[in-house]
Amino acid sequence: MLSVPNWLSKGALVPAATIEKVRRGGRNSGLPYAKCSMREAMILRLFNTLTGQLDPLAPSDGKALRMYACGPTVYDYGHIGNFRTFLHIDVLRRFLGLIGVSVRHVMNITDVDDKIIRNAASAGIPISQYTPPFVEAFFQDLDALRVQHPEQIARATEHIPQMVELIERLAQAGAAYKTDDGSWYFRLKSFPEYGKLSKKDLAGIADGARVDLDEYEKDSARDFALWKAAKPGEASWETSIGRGRPGWHIECSAMAMEYLGDSFDLHAGGEDLMFPHHENEIAQSETATHKPFARHWMHVRFLLVDGRKMAKSEGNFYTLRDLLLKGYRASAIRMALISVPYRHQLNFTFDGLAEATKAVERLRTFDERLRSNSFAAGENPALQALAKEAQNEFMEALANDLNTADARAAIFELVRAANTAIDDGRLLSADRDAILSVLKDFDAVFDVLEDHDDEPTRRAIEWAQGSGREAAIAPELLARESLDHEAVEALIAERIEAKKRRNFSRADQIRNELAEKGVILEDTKDGVRWKRK
Ligand SMILES: [Zn+2]
Repeated sequence: MLSVPNWLSKGALVPAATIEKVRRGGRNSGLPYAKCSMREAMILRLFNTLTGQLDPLAPSDGKALRMYACGPTVYDYGHIGNFRTFLHIDVLRRFLGLIGVSVRHVMNITDVDDKIIRNAASAGIPISQYTPPFVEAFFQDLDALRVQHPEQIARATEHIPQMVELIERLAQAGAAYKTDDGSWYFRLKSFPEYGKLSKKDLAGIADGARVDLDEYEKDSARDFALWKAAKPGEASWETSIGRGRPGWHIECSAMAMEYLGDSFDLHAGGEDLMFPHHENEIAQSETATHKPFARHWMHVRFLLVDGRKMAKSEGNFYTLRDLLLKGYRASAIRMALISVPYRHQLNFTFDGLAEATKAVERLRTFDERLRSNSFAAGENPALQALAKEAQNEFMEALANDLNTADARAAIFELVRAANTAIDDGRLLSADRDAILSVLKDFDAVFDVLEDHDDEPTRRAIEWAQGSGREAAIAPELLARESLDHEAVEALIAERIEAKKRRNFSRADQIRNELAEKGVILEDTKDGVRWKRK
């Protein structure tokens, strides 16, 4: 393990070589020691699909980690499987931030492909009108889940010249050929390393066998379309290689290299993209540049729903919006989708989502308990050690291939022990500060402590009401939402008045009315606190 132990003791001297060697691919700054925090000496070891092992991940230019992640194809609303991938890439970004690594993250938006063209045609509108609402919905959903935005968003339809130029380079190298209908294909036989990412044995590839679908079946590696000749009624561009539109794979190669250079640090995406999409990206890019494309490849595993593959035909297919309209909170969905490490299969269930809801609630209650109570001055060495241990375990777990399950477990162990210490009166003010600092790091990655849940729910309801989907809104949710913040506060004020007037039946009536709408009241010595169930 390359991480440095006891990283909590900031300002300690770490051999510069230790940091430099890993961070800058072997080059040394020449300084014997670099003064830096131990945290910043921490190295993330991430599984690399290309090498089949855990490799240290660090910016090769010593400045910012250049990473590309395949974004959405905007033909529909995102489902929870899509968002599992985006959430784990968010965990990666946030953990890198926590250990002081800056990131230059590029994500594409595929706004032209087979499915988009088909759907736009059946809706009777051009693709330029069909995709914008789905792009907007995608970013709203990312915001609901508190996924940080990439530094650069690249839309396929805005990068046609770069794609055409790349196809021309491939043609000059003899790796691309034009067919009679005016389409262009990549000649698989021109790239002998084809299959090195997915480790597929592709010995039996028939030279010249072609496929023009953006997505095609595994085990049928064929020459794939780089450029599809214009067909009547389809979106197309007039270019030097003819009139047509790009294939899906060329988009990502062209846009990744446009913003990150020929070679960059990390390429990420869902496991379903490994073959053929990522394999094709490597073939196109490395044939054109003769340089390694991405050094490190991260693939997030699929999720199952109730033990089965998620599919509309199975009736177990959920978008984020479906879950919000059932009354689940965005924070609980985030928690449920990130709590299982990215390389493990997550079996998504409603029991699991209920557990995640309770877990978020428990953390928020604990955080509130630390912040709202006053603790005697001083520190308890046992609790100080416990906080430090939890923080170490949290960081080490994430540094070890982003093990979110172990990271989460370390924090819940601390919550359990600290709650007991508060009950026993053993927790002192300096202990509270130490534990709050651990929670701060936890939340820098998990981001569930602060309650931002009302807005995504309200927006999902408005969206459903505005698009004829009222039937999807759970009745309990509508009842709950019929009371906004001010209305709750007004009823609580009325209840206080009623109690003063010794009108206890009215006070109880208000409490019950609120409870029916999911608002729980808690009478404390500092007054009434309330929360939504
Ligand atoms: Zn891609």
